Amino acid sequence: MNPDEFRRAGHAVIDWIADYWATLEHRPVTPADPPGTVASALPATPPTAGEPVGAVLADLDAIVVPGLTHWQHPSFFGYFPANTSGPSLLGDLVSSGLGVQGMLWTTSPACTELETVMMDWLAELLDLPPRFRSTGSGGGVIQDSASSATLVATLAALHRASGGRWRAAGIDRRYRAYTSVHGHSSIEKAARIAGLGSDGVRPIEADPETQALRPAALRAAIEADLAAGEIPAIVVATIGTTSTTAVDPLPEIGAICAEYGIWLHVDAAYAGAAAVCPELRWSHAGLEYADSYCFDPHKWLLTGFDCDAFWVADRGELIEALTVLPEFLRNAASESGAVIDYRDWQVPLGRRFRALKLWFVLRWYGAEGLRAHVRSGVALAARFADRLRADDRFELAAAHPFSLVCFRLRADDDTNAELLARVNGTGRVHLTHTRVAGRYTLRLAVGSPQTAERHVDEAWDLLAAAAGDLLTP
Ligand SMILES: *Cc1c(COP(=O)(O)O)cnc(C)c1O
Repeated sequence: MNPDEFRRAGHAVIDWIADYWATLEHRPVTPADPPGTVASALPATPPTAGEPVGAVLADLDAIVVPGLTHWQHPSFFGYFPANTSGPSLLGDLVSSGLGVQGMLWTTSPACTELETVMMDWLAELLDLPPRFRSTGSGGGVIQDSASSATLVATLAALHRASGGRWRAAGIDRRYRAYTSVHGHSSIEKAARIAGLGSDGVRPIEADPETQALRPAALRAAIEADLAAGEIPAIVVATIGTTSTTAVDPLPEIGAICAEYGIWLHVDAAYAGAAAVCPELRWSHAGLEYADSYCFDPHKWLLTGFDCDAFWVADRGELIEALTVLPEFLRNAASESGAVIDYRDWQVPLGRRFRALKLWFVLRWYGAEGLRAHVRSGVALAARFADRLRADDRFELAAAHPFSLVCFRLRADDDTNAELLARVNGTGRVHLTHTRVAGRYTLRLAVGSPQTAERHVDEAWDLLAAAAGDLLTP
């Protein structure tokens, strides 16, 4: 494909995406076809002769789009949002076009330096503690996901807890990780990969009212492990748990970690974005105790997947834990100590130029635009919660400080599961579920920049109508 062919096909693809976004609202949010529908519509073997891009676009419309769950749909309320935006897509396109590798500063200096500045910009936007900035002892890096951030934090924590021995010798003792029973599954996965095993993770009791980790239970677990000769390595606290957006009490947790010298990682994958708004920064109180912190701009900050923003307070510990220097990567810039080599801050060697999409997003929206987006999600969730509160058939299952509302019918689990199936079955909305205190609970999460009051109102109307049908004997 020469540059002129690319220009023509590229214009057609951008038009295709703009049309997709413009017509999204009129599509069913989720596909209805049975498993195998998409695969069976595709040829079993690749084409022998090349085909024009137009032929691929036609099959996109005919085969792929009907088989999609439309995550950018204004009535997609499932899981947590994973929203992209025009500026994010354009930044990503430039990154793909440049195709540079940013593993070392020297392999593409601007790739590293733009990322360092974007992470400092984000730290400024969220008002993170000064030690996370690259101008202090720490610094930020873009990971693919919050899961990778937790893994990298776990490795750095093992480096610290083993006094540096883990790097050469591997796991030689029983190291322990601690997180609330509502901590994300990626914490257990990181513990397995790092060699602690699932049994190395201590699930800490949460308050039944707030679903937040109980500091007294954390202290008791740490002391029991110490008494048994085990080594507490890392505590993962969550700002905005996946189930209900509970906020663990960082000031108390941080003081315990400081007392015992345990690495504190704070996982704010979804709710971290809220800190762009000063009125929501209460959720980050106590963050000055954290050794590392991450949030996903790819969830609620209009930056397309994948983009996790991860900071450490002491970049030296992270780099010592992860650096391996083969001869073919040796270079004068690295040896001068004056540059950042992000390969030492992550698991893979190679890395994309992901800072570009952040740069495009931050410049297009500005701090005010991002705040307006977060505030709109919070207000729409509050509007939905008000409807629920006004209807005696429903109850809220948890507080809704951000843009997630957890609720249920005052009825048994089966009835609530049937309620979810019925509203999702209309194809007009998509909600998901969780369990709160053992009980089946529906979740409505707002995040698309296209979501307006009418979409949330329609979700409510569908729920109220289905509730009427289900509760009528
Ligand atoms: C979504 C989520 C994760 C995982 O995010 P990825 O970026 O997909 O790995 C981790 N922790 C919490 C609290 C989450 O909500």
